[in-house]
Order: sequence, then structure tokens, then C-alpha cells
Amino acid sequence: MQFDYLIVGAGFAGSVLAERLASQSGKTVLIVDKRSHIGGNAYDRYDSSGILIHPYGPHIFHTNSDKIFGYLSQFTDWRAYEHRVLASVKDKNDKPVHVPIPINLTTINTLYKLNLTPDQLEIWYRGRAEKIEHCRTSEEVVVSKVGRELYEKFFRGYTRKQWDLDPSELDAQVTARIPTRTTDDDRYFNDTFQYMPLHGYTAMFEKILANPRVKVMLNTDYHEVKETIRFREMIFTGPVDEFFDYRFGKLPYRSLHFQHETHDTEKFLAAPVVNFPSEDVPYTRISEFKALTGQEHPTKTSVVYEFPRSTGDPYYPIPKADCTALYNKYKELADGMPGVHFVGRLATYKYYNMDQVVGQALATYDKIVGKREQVAPVILSAPLTEKDVLRNDLKIPVAPGRKSQPIPAQPVATRADVSFLLSGGNRQ
Ligand code: FAD
Ligand code: UDP
Repeated sequence: MQFDYLIVGAGFAGSVLAERLASQSGKTVLIVDKRSHIGGNAYDRYDSSGILIHPYGPHIFHTNSDKIFGYLSQFTDWRAYEHRVLASVKDKNDKPVHVPIPINLTTINTLYKLNLTPDQLEIWYRGRAEKIEHCRTSEEVVVSKVGRELYEKFFRGYTRKQWDLDPSELDAQVTARIPTRTTDDDRYFNDTFQYMPLHGYTAMFEKILANPRVKVMLNTDYHEVKETIRFREMIFTGPVDEFFDYRFGKLPYRSLHFQHETHDTEKFLAAPVVNFPSEDVPYTRISEFKALTGQEHPTKTSVVYEFPRSTGDPYYPIPKADCTALYNKYKELADGMPGVHFVGRLATYKYYNMDQVVGQALATYDKIVGKREQVAPVILSAPLTEKDVLRNDLKIPVAPGRKSQPIPAQPVATRADVSFLLSGGNRQ
């Protein structure tokens, strides 16, 4: 059989392109992944206790793009979820405390036993910040906002562990992901849309890949099929250096070891995620899945510890000048390959979040079909009623044979709700 497209990788990049090419251009697609599942690093599944976990670490969806949110909303309903993180650090008396990260009013007032207002905190930061004209490194980004003491407490150790590099060696974009606040806003992200897929990521991917023109082949490295399957064009979402047989040497990627644990208690952490900036602790953070998904289980909870590694699956491209220079050599080769499109976090060596990968995949589709519009129009399915928007009796499905866990009463964004949000709030 001949396919129009062979797509390597069933993560966001590959799956979104498969969906667009099949549903909008009538193309036939074979999508192969060497893993045993779809979803790439966003894959989720139920563990042996019936708890929905993210095997590759905590994945929280957030975006400022109504188009990307609207696009994904065709394939899932959403659960409103604003992510919050505590950092485990020592206060000025060397006593361990849990305080909000991003650093905010509560963080400073707790650590220094102060009672500052937001205006006073602004001045307090200014008194400690170092004057730097153009921040180039991840160290400069932080010390220019909050000064050296807080930088050392919250950022230096965490970054050294995560990247095996000092923040002074990393591009500014890495720590610039974390804002600094003068208010008591303790949300991890500032984005307009902060939601989790109501039934999880894998359920959403199943819908993205449901088009009969899309065939999925798992447990298959594309090297095994590329000579035997006939196809017109390829979309590659794996590591770009691997594609070119490491011609210019290996691109460095940072990896993680995930230690999953289930505990016989309803709640394990004081927040959905607790960060451990100290270099004395070998892991960077612990995440508790029920807090992210809203699933309830009265007696058990599952968590994951992240231990950074230099070897293992490639999870993080490294934002650093010499790595970017090496990537640019591969990019030149990639740009010169007619009929092969490189998309996603590993294939374009970009420290992208999920929404950015979706945006990149949608833009690639538009480029393939020669459209000018950056992101494809949102197609919303049958209108749902007002009742759908506030329904709170939805169940998160659990593994077969296990008792279903009702999610707690909370706002659920259905497709009607998304329509409403995207229309600028004019409900008729
Ligand atoms: P991937 O998901 O990596 O998919 C690529 C796929 O290609 C993989 O399934 C792989 O098996 C397959 N593949 C590779 N080589 C081959 C080959 N030779 N043959 C066949 N198949 C191959 N983003 C957020 O927005 N929010 C978060 O909270 C968040 N948390 C994260 C936490 C961690 C620990 C990590 C590592 C990432 C996180 N991300 C988060 C980023 C998110 O995972 C990525 O942006 C997104 O999953 C990238 O999608 P992708 O399709 O580019 O790549
Ligand atoms: N970071 C830090 N301390 C923290 C949180 C983040 O130093 O408590 C730095 C660290 O370098 C990290 C980067 O900021 O790699 C980005 O953090 P984010 O939580 O966005 O990382 P990700 O979820 O992508 O692993």
C-alpha cells in the first residue's frame, strides 16, 4: 500500500499533522512510533491502583492562543485547572519551609517574616536586584529581578541539577519561563487558558487519531519500515541528529529518570508539585497526579520524583549557544531535504511546551498546503447546552474492573464553553 505521508512519532507534532492532513486534505497517513503507545511524552495511563498518571512527568496544559485551544477543543472537554507549586527551602533561621514559586508576596513575607504590601515589595526587589542592561544568561534574568540571595535559594541549585550547567551558562529563556510577582498570585503560569483534558491526554490523542485515513503502527522504529512502506512525503518528529546518523556529532539532550510511587494515603504533598532547589536533594521535584487530574481516591495517591540524567531518552533540548550552533548545522541539512518536514521539540531542537508544538504543527500543515493563515480555523462540533458547561457529575474513567472515581464539583469547560470563550464572551 502507498501512503501519502509517513509520520514518525505519535506525540503532539505527529498526531496533529496526521489529523490535519487526513481531515482537511484527504491524505492517507501512516504514523509510526517506536514506543508502545500514542501521545509521545504527554501520554497518560492508569496505574495498578487505578490512578491516572503521566509516565513521562507532569503535563499541564496552558496557552495564550485561542486558536490552539480551540483546535484541541475539538478532541476533548476540559477541566479548569490552575497549576500551583511550592518550593521546599530554608528560611532565614535555617528552618525548612514550603513557599510559593514563582516568588511572590507570600514567598517573601514568609521567608523574611515581613508584612510587605505589593508596592513595598516592588521597592524591596529593586533594592536587591542587580542592574543588567541586556540579560543574556539564566543567571542574569533572575539576579536582575530579585537579586543574588533569592537566585541562589530558588534557581541556582535547581538549574544545576536539571541541566548539569550553571545558570550563567544557559540562555536567558530557561529561567525566564518563571515570572516574579509582587502580588499573592501563586499560579505557576500566567496564560489565559489553563485547563487539563477532562479524560486525560491519551483519550484526547485517540480522538485526534480517529480518522480512518490515519493508520497507527506502534512498537516500530521508522528505520524498520522506511524501505518497505511506500510514501510520498515524510514528517519526522524524532531527534534531528538521529535522522542524519549523527553526521556532525550528537546533539546534547537532557534526560530524566522518573521514580513513580503509590502511597497508602489520600494526599501526599502540600501542593500539586513541590520543587526542591537544594543541591543536597538529588531530585528536582515531586508531583502528585490526583491533584493535577482532579481524580479522587480515598486511600491511595500516586506521585513521581524526577532525577535529572545526561543519558536516557532525550527529553530536553539544551538552550545554550554551542548546542544551538550544532543544531543549526543539522537544520541546514533538514532545510535541504525536499519532501521531509521536521516538526516538534526534538526535530527542531526547541524547548517547546505542548501548545507551542501544536502551533508549530498547525503552521507546518498550512505551509504544506500553501496557506498564508498561521493556524487552521477552529471547527467546533454540535453545540452543547448551558447545562454542559456546569455539569459536575462527570466521571474520570478508570482501569477496567476498578471503581470509577467521581471528580469533585468544579467548572468543566465543554465545547460550548470554549465557543463562548472564543466568541469574546457574547453568550446569546
Ligand atoms: P514527543 O512527545 O517527544 O514525541 C515524539 C515521538 O517520536 C515519541 O513518542 C518517540 O517515541 C517518537 N520517535 C522518536 N524517534 C523515533 C523513531 N526513530 N521511530 C519511531 N518513533 C520515534 N509541556 C507543557 O505544555 N506543559 C507541561 O507541563 C509539560 N511538562 C513536561 C514535563 C516533562 C518532564 C517533559 C519532558 C516535557 C514536558 N512538557 C510540557 C513538554 C511536552 O512534553 C512537549 O512539548 C511535547 O510532548 C512535545 O511533543 P512532540 O510531538 O514534539 O515530541
Ligand atoms: N527553575 C528553577 N527553580 C524552580 C523552578 C524552575 O531554577 O523552582 C528553573 C530551572 O532551570 C528549570 C527552568 O527554571 O529548568 C524552567 O522551569 P519549568 O518548571 O518551566 O521546567 P519544566 O517544567 O520544563 O521542566
